[in-house]
Amino acid sequence: MVDFGFGLVPSSRINLDLFDKEKYEELAAMEPDVRICMACGSCTAVCTAGKFVPTSLREAIEAIKNANPEKALQMLESCQFCGKCSMVCPRGINTRHLILSITKVYSQK
Ligand code: SF4
Ligand code: SF4
Repeated sequence: MVDFGFGLVPSSRINLDLFDKEKYEELAAMEPDVRICMACGSCTAVCTAGKFVPTSLREAIEAIKNANPEKALQMLESCQFCGKCSMVCPRGINTRHLILSITKVYSQK
């Protein structure tokens, strides 16, 4: 195979057929800011925990929209609540509060 020096990332489209709207609305009622995330990835780029283990708020939100709450929880389980992500979020999202809410809502069976 030819090495072009770059790779293609998997599609990040939201699968609306799998999307759990009920749970998402429960989360959005607690945390309306989840609706305004634009998946820019700034939070992931600066993440303290992400330097050592896979941790990404952006990926967690994407996983929720693709009906994969297990991955969402996995992406947040090593969060140190340092707050760096909230300092860089261009949408001004209270990321730590959002992480707590995601964990609370999607940990419920
Ligand atoms: S608060 Fe959590 S998700 Fe945000 S930068 Fe710190 S470790 Fe990463
Ligand atoms: S920095 Fe803010 S807008 Fe960007 S992906 Fe993270 S939470 Fe979403």
